[in-house]
Amino acid sequence: MKNPFSRRLFMELSVSGSLAAAVAHADDVRPITQASVPGDPAAPKEQEGTVPPAQPFDQPLAFTRHDLRAKVEPFSLTQVRLKPSAFYDAQEANRKLLHRWSADRLLHTFRLNAGLPSSAQPLGGWERPDCELRGHFVGHYLSACALTFSSTGDTEIRDKGNYMVAELAKCQQKLGGRYLSAFPTELFDRLKRRERVWAPFYTYHKILAGMIDMNQLCANAQALDVAKGMGDWADNWTAQLSEKQMQLVLDEEYGGMSEALYNLAVLADSDRYATVADRFTKRRFFNPLALHRDQLRGLHTNTHIPQVIGAARRYELSSDYRFHDVADAFWTEVVETRTYATGGTSNNEGWLTEPNHLAQELKQGSKTNECCCAYNMMKLTRRLYAWSADPRYFDYYEQVLYNHRLGTIETDNGHTQYYLGVVPGSWRSFGTEDDTFWCCTGTGTEEYSKLADSIYFHSSDAVFVNLSIPSDLDWKERRIRLRQTNHFPQEPRTRLEVLVESPQHFPLNIRVPSWVTGFPAVSLNGKPIESSAAPGSYLVIARSWHSGDHVEVTFPMSVYAQPMPDEPTQQAFLYGPLLLAGVVGDGTVPQSLAVGPMGPEFEKHAPPPVPELHGAKPDPNEWIKKRPDSLTFDVAGSLTLVPFNTIGAAQPYSVYWKVS
Ligand SMILES: [Zn+2]
Repeated sequence: MKNPFSRRLFMELSVSGSLAAAVAHADDVRPITQASVPGDPAAPKEQEGTVPPAQPFDQPLAFTRHDLRAKVEPFSLTQVRLKPSAFYDAQEANRKLLHRWSADRLLHTFRLNAGLPSSAQPLGGWERPDCELRGHFVGHYLSACALTFSSTGDTEIRDKGNYMVAELAKCQQKLGGRYLSAFPTELFDRLKRRERVWAPFYTYHKILAGMIDMNQLCANAQALDVAKGMGDWADNWTAQLSEKQMQLVLDEEYGGMSEALYNLAVLADSDRYATVADRFTKRRFFNPLALHRDQLRGLHTNTHIPQVIGAARRYELSSDYRFHDVADAFWTEVVETRTYATGGTSNNEGWLTEPNHLAQELKQGSKTNECCCAYNMMKLTRRLYAWSADPRYFDYYEQVLYNHRLGTIETDNGHTQYYLGVVPGSWRSFGTEDDTFWCCTGTGTEEYSKLADSIYFHSSDAVFVNLSIPSDLDWKERRIRLRQTNHFPQEPRTRLEVLVESPQHFPLNIRVPSWVTGFPAVSLNGKPIESSAAPGSYLVIARSWHSGDHVEVTFPMSVYAQPMPDEPTQQAFLYGPLLLAGVVGDGTVPQSLAVGPMGPEFEKHAPPPVPELHGAKPDPNEWIKKRPDSLTFDVAGSLTLVPFNTIGAAQPYSVYWKVS
């Protein structure tokens, strides 16, 4: 991060490794004949393993629109309103920060690049006028304005977004009517020539995605015109390259170009943009995934998650199952074999080991859990969930939400984190307001603009409640309203009240998380009802609902361990959805290391000693004792554990413990 080219160098190393593997694999393929004459050299030979199949993405792609019928879909953000809770506080901190950032300062480098006057004070960090990533945050900002307007009805933030779209459209016109960026096309020339450059398509994607969000969520027609122009420019630029050249271009991080272009194809009702999106298919990354092979070691994590989101979108628009397999295999590998107890993934921005070697990975670096990765994995997860309505996706989503997203924003100023350290002795470090603008600042400001987007989903007739977050749902099409109230997770229960103008029959599906101990206790209008809904399933109540009918569900929680797969005595402890952590050492690091534009500098402060825990019995509830009416836990009288998301900046902590 201190060296802006570190991402690229990392990726070059990783790509050369995976390319060599792909070539070697291709050489293994040999024809099978029907010859059976003894000694015939052409006869098939018995081999270990299976014959390598063809590489699914080695043929040219041809896009044909054939929409997938998802099992469920999320409610629009305009139909859900957060009510007071930690999530509401995060949303509001972010919203206030969106108001504080100056539109003209954000526009400064775009205007300069277009030759338009600007006297605004330049921003710092990754938005500095000489930073090759400049302009990326402006795309995130447009998305955040659009999402915040949808989530809260804040018209002032919508108008600020509209102003920026209009000003950016002037820049685009000045640049010829199609290209739009805060840097000249010369960066793309360098990309084409394979010269050193910092991810120009990554930034281009953010701006394109911001325009798409402003069109979709704020009905800004001009934003769609700008996006189409940007798509046309990308079409022209990529069409001039051979397939081989394009695959080399894809060695450089390019964000979610494919996803944005697939979305543009839908909005513009033009398959041409989907064909452009197909050009951003990195074959040597997709081929092993489509064959359910984990070849992720050595890859830069957040370069690749957006590509898989693009694959998921491609599957939804074409029903091409190869793309389904890429998304499904990737999600399963990352979540089941490469995810820490926080729900996050990555170390030094990459995957450094083979699957299920997290303890080994922790020894190789301290900058774990890039926040962008959590953002993008959640984005991918809600898509995969919609295809199947399988509640296991929300076990993961909830884990990330409570343990990686809550806590990585300062609720008094909206500033966010880059990495979330899980090496024992790590601490939280937050960016500054005008001198940071990391990638994670960008994804963070989107994340906290859309915290309400996955609480509720629906099918044609049923409501699915996936998260216990206080909120109001207004299903306008069905004239059904739902009000969720609780003090979750401080209290392990939630209450859902139905509000209808006249009695309505529909199934209410309430997710029972996998961490529930035993069975949930359920009452309807104050009277206990029988329930056999097991953890990891839905509790379904189908009935004719009257206004005021209410359900209360209690989710029994207990402490459970999550051992490292490759070092079972190194364990994290959770209580319900909450990862627990303890402050270690004298409880402080210098304030200068907790805030700043450089991100966490773990190397500047020696980690304090972390106590070993003596688990007297296998059941951690025997020796990790919860205090009454508090989410504070005493460990054998010597250590206190609290929810990880409540530990603030400048406090060294541990979430993993050596247990003897
Ligand atoms: Zn990031």
